[in-house]
Parts: sequence; C-alpha cells; structure tokens
Amino acid sequence: MTSEPLEWMIQNQIVRRGIHNHALLNALRAIDRRDFVPAASQSAAYEDRPLPLKNGQTISQPYIVALMTEQLELDSHHHVLEIGTGSAYQTAILAFLCHSVISIELFPALHEVAKLSLAPFKFRNITLIQGDGKKGWEKQAPYDRIILTAAPQDFPDSVFDQLVEGGIMVAPIGKAGYQTLFKITKTGGKPVKESICGVRFVPLV
Ligand code: SAH
Repeated sequence: MTSEPLEWMIQNQIVRRGIHNHALLNALRAIDRRDFVPAASQSAAYEDRPLPLKNGQTISQPYIVALMTEQLELDSHHHVLEIGTGSAYQTAILAFLCHSVISIELFPALHEVAKLSLAPFKFRNITLIQGDGKKGWEKQAPYDRIILTAAPQDFPDSVFDQLVEGGIMVAPIGKAGYQTLFKITKTGGKPVKESICGVRFVPLV
C-alpha cells in the first residue's frame, strides 16, 4: 500500500495539476521518492521542490518528473535514453513504464549512489553508465524516447540524431538559471518542437 505522505504528494502536487495517467500514477506509488532522497533531506522527501544531491546537483521536483514522463508517452516496448541519472528516481519511474532504460551520469559519486538506491528494486531493464552524455550514447542507439534531466544551452543535435523516426525527446533547453521544457518529435527526420513550460534545471556540463 502507498504510504500516506507519498499519496499526499501524488494527489496534491501531481493529480491536482492535471496529470491523470493511471500507469504513471501507479509508477509514482510503486517507486517511493524517499528511497532516492539523501539522508540529510529525508524529512523533505515529499515536498514540492527539488532537493540537493552531491556535486551541487539536484533531484527534480516530483511534479516535473511526472510531467516529463507524461510528455514522453511511454509504452512497454520503448527503449529509452536518459541523460543525467542524478538520484535515479526518474530512472526508476521510466523503467517501471518501458522496456529498457540506458541512463548516463557524469559524476562518479552520483553514479555510485544511484546504483545503491536502485539495488533493492531489482530492476533488470536499467543500464547505468558513468560518462559524458552530452552527445547521447551511440552504442545502444537508436532510442524510442530520450529524456534530458540537465539543460543544454542549444538544441542537442547529436542526441536528437539517436532518436527513431516518430520518437519523442523531452528536454529543458536554454541558459543556466531559466530554460524552456520542450517536447520534440522526430517527423520526417526533422525536429517538431512544442514548448511545455518554463523550468529551472542544472546545466548539462
Ligand atoms: N532526474 C534526476 C535529475 C538530476 S540533475 C533526478 O531527479 O535525480 C541532472 C543530472 O545530470 C546531474 O546528476 C548531473 O550530474 C547530470 N549531468 C550533467 N551534465 C551531464 C553530462 N554531460 N552527462 C551526463 N550527466 C550529466
């Protein structure tokens, strides 16, 4: 059963803001955000905001995780690339809803913590990679879906190239401090961009 504070988070921050996708809400119930929040922030695990990780990075606000996941329109056969593992909370939500997830994290310390946080869930469809994801991850391309959880300043062409025709990429794009969240669909080989909202992500470095 979902813990009361977790259900409160889901109802107040996610359903109330218009996200009703059943599979997604079930993923949020099955994957407790608290299991990905560092010890120092445990009491704030269900709050409506990002929380600090090591290396000056953050675990995204729950609503943003839900919104980006919804925009990806995931299916159980999708092969997904995530750039910026961070806490691996978003990674676990993705893995719950799709066929396979490749997730790249630049910082070794975060990559190690992500491995530990995911271990109890025994996911068999997640591959964690420690490395630079700025140019995507060619080895396992193409991907049906791509999600960036750190923001490039400009449109990431080389990442977009790794998307299948008809595939969707969700990414914050823009300068440090304020970016636009885009849903980008590959149509006839070209990006069709839809802006979702303003966001504040850590930069893709
Ligand atoms: N979805 C994650 C968000 C983490 S913040 C969560 O909710 O926990 C974004 C992450 O992207 C950070 O962990 C940061 O270290 C990572 N990152 C930044 N630049 C990167 C790069 N070039 N390659 C891979 N990861 C990167």
